[in-house]
Amino acid sequence: MPVFDHPEFDHHQQVVHGCDEASGLRAIIAIHDTRRGPALGGLRIYPYADEAEALTDVLRLSRGMTYKSALADLPLGGGKAVIIADPRRDKTPELLRAMGRLVDSLSGRYITAEDSGSSEADMRVIAEATDHVGGLGHAGRSGDPSPFTAHGVFCALRSAVRHGLGREDLAGLRVAVQGVGHVGAHLARRLHAAGARLVLTDVDRDALARLGEELEAEIVRPEAIVDAEVDVFAPCAMGAALSAEVVERLKARVVCGAANNQLASPEIADRLHARGILYTPDYVANAGGVIEIAWQRRPDYRREAVMAHIEGIGATLDEIFARAAREGRSPAPVADDLARERFRPTP
Ligand code: NAD
Repeated sequence: MPVFDHPEFDHHQQVVHGCDEASGLRAIIAIHDTRRGPALGGLRIYPYADEAEALTDVLRLSRGMTYKSALADLPLGGGKAVIIADPRRDKTPELLRAMGRLVDSLSGRYITAEDSGSSEADMRVIAEATDHVGGLGHAGRSGDPSPFTAHGVFCALRSAVRHGLGREDLAGLRVAVQGVGHVGAHLARRLHAAGARLVLTDVDRDALARLGEELEAEIVRPEAIVDAEVDVFAPCAMGAALSAEVVERLKARVVCGAANNQLASPEIADRLHARGILYTPDYVANAGGVIEIAWQRRPDYRREAVMAHIEGIGATLDEIFARAAREGRSPAPVADDLARERFRPTP
């Protein structure tokens, strides 16, 4: 399987395949860039159809982490790991320890953390074999990053609303939240507390109904959320929520949510721009969790300092939106340019 010629390769520094016969481990660790610091990125455990699919995913995700850490102003680079396995069936302590040994063999160039298919409990097992694990919690508190991610998305949304709709106040703002899982539910509560009117959806009907009642929100079917008459659309479910068809249907003038890889393809950013919809680059908006994980590595961890750092997402977006407006471009390529300026040495 060609790695150097892979369409997602983009100058990765190192790609490591790891195998452990006894536990059945088949894993890939991708280190995109370590110029700002060690490569931090989650471990995804997923039953990929084949190795090629796993390689594409890990390369794309690892590069994204370099951009995310650079714009979150963290002393970290970008990396990611995948295990080709079904997390419900194949995830054994032996498999996780073997993964820990693979992470350890990179001597700290890659730091792992939880991602889809892996939990905080799994990280504790991996930590039996390596010190290079983030997101284990701090001072007895849970390592769940989602409240921090939601705080960052809330700050991002305020910036996007200021630039896209010219308003400071969220009272009466209509927001559609797609997916009310860990991050989406926190975000919806924050928006409700700020006086926003919510339209919510999820494929999990029970959790949705409970939250809808609590927040006096309108509930719609998953396929109807993109047609909601709202000011802001907040994708907080899966990736690729924004396709060409969805962009044509959106009523919202602002898109800002937690989901990773919201654009089904890069040119969707231009379609949003052409329709006058302000798109908030996803990896900037959803960096709150990684910011908190990075702070857990510091001896001077303070919750107020973490929250202040996360609030900096708003200022970064103010800069991105202002530059995008000046240059008449979508904020997505402007964010990419700004990130590259931060991780590539100036000539
Ligand atoms: P989660 O699994 O807790 O929540 C996702 C929710 O979306 C679930 O309730 C699920 O039922 C729902 N959903 C799935 N498909 C849907 C569909 N078609 N329509 C409507 N709802 C649907 O995940 P999460 O931790 O809340 O993360 C949400 C998104 O944010 C993911 O894309 C994740 O990669 C991204 N993200 C999360 C964090 C974090 O700290 N958890 C950090 C960065 C990015």
